[in-house]
Amino acid sequence: MKITDHIKKSNGKTLFSFEIIPPKKGKNIQELYNNIDPLMEFNPPFIDVTTSREEYVYIEKEGLLDRKLTRMRPGTVGICAAIKHKYNVDTVPHVLCGGFTKEETEYLLVDCHYLGIDNVMALRGDAMSHQKYFEASNGGHKYAKDLVTQIQNLNCGKYLHDVMEATNKADFCIGVAGYPEKHLEAPSLQTDLKRLKEKVAAGADYVVTQMFFDNQKYFEFVEAAKKMGIHIPIIPGIKPIAVQRHLQLLPQVFRIDLPETLIHSVESCKTSKEVRQVGIEWAIQQSRELLAAGVPVLHYYSMGKSDNIQAIAKELF
Ligand code: FAD
Repeated sequence: MKITDHIKKSNGKTLFSFEIIPPKKGKNIQELYNNIDPLMEFNPPFIDVTTSREEYVYIEKEGLLDRKLTRMRPGTVGICAAIKHKYNVDTVPHVLCGGFTKEETEYLLVDCHYLGIDNVMALRGDAMSHQKYFEASNGGHKYAKDLVTQIQNLNCGKYLHDVMEATNKADFCIGVAGYPEKHLEAPSLQTDLKRLKEKVAAGADYVVTQMFFDNQKYFEFVEAAKKMGIHIPIIPGIKPIAVQRHLQLLPQVFRIDLPETLIHSVESCKTSKEVRQVGIEWAIQQSRELLAAGVPVLHYYSMGKSDNIQAIAKELF
């Protein structure tokens, strides 16, 4: 079922969902299930599965370093199918521009369609670690908007190169990313919102936000988006702080601000367990306010570990 239909069916009740990361290749999927199991009692109507682009790995061979380009966490669509089958829940594969040709994307979407996956999250992806700026892959898309257009074309039965007449159209519900504190490359929040509007015009059905730690940023973003003429659901993405290092890492990677009170609370912690507890309490407080404001879904970034998400969900759902 489409995310937008889940939201409609909920009649204004806020839904619970979360995002997981595929295991590294060579690892067992059981670990993933062990982290999903404790969250199923909160009835998530959907679970997102991220996609990682290819990266360089260095392998030592006879004293020399051999460089290989490889995808360390493959299998997003397979994992979506496995979870859908095991838990009878909708799954949302993240589809990236970076690292994929348009043809590869088409094959992936055809697989999703055959597997009965009704939702996809269309994202550009980030630059590779050796690049300063994102570069489109050879034969790939440059912006998420172009990926949305490709998916929307499939929904209209239009495949690449017009080689065949489609008798069976896809019907994907398309999610895109939004940034309450603007995307790190955008010159301003207003410009970034214009880009978001272009994704909506291309066919996006809902937005999931980047993490934020001050709800005011989300509320203002939703208002600004409405003023811009964006009227699709904007789902807040919540990440509980889990380790002290997040104080530096999250602002550096995502260019987001952390509130002073939160910084102070984390810095006052003596053990990593205390830091995790502060993260849980902050996320509960954030979630309570967002629930009261009637957000359609509370979407949690689990980063592979579910104990903290479980502790948060227990208080709210
Ligand atoms: P876009 O919408 O293409 O925007 C990228 C930048 O380009 C923005 O600054 C925008 O303002 C600008 N822009 C857009 N169109 C134009 C134009 N026509 N001309 C000039 N500038 C333009 N990354 C992963 O690798 N895997 C994941 O699974 C993943 N999941 C995510 C889930 C969520 C909810 C979010 C918020 C992010 C996720 N990301 C993921 C990160 C995402 O890939 C990065 O934030 C990426 O840098 C931007 O992706 P986007 O889809 O927002 O890109």
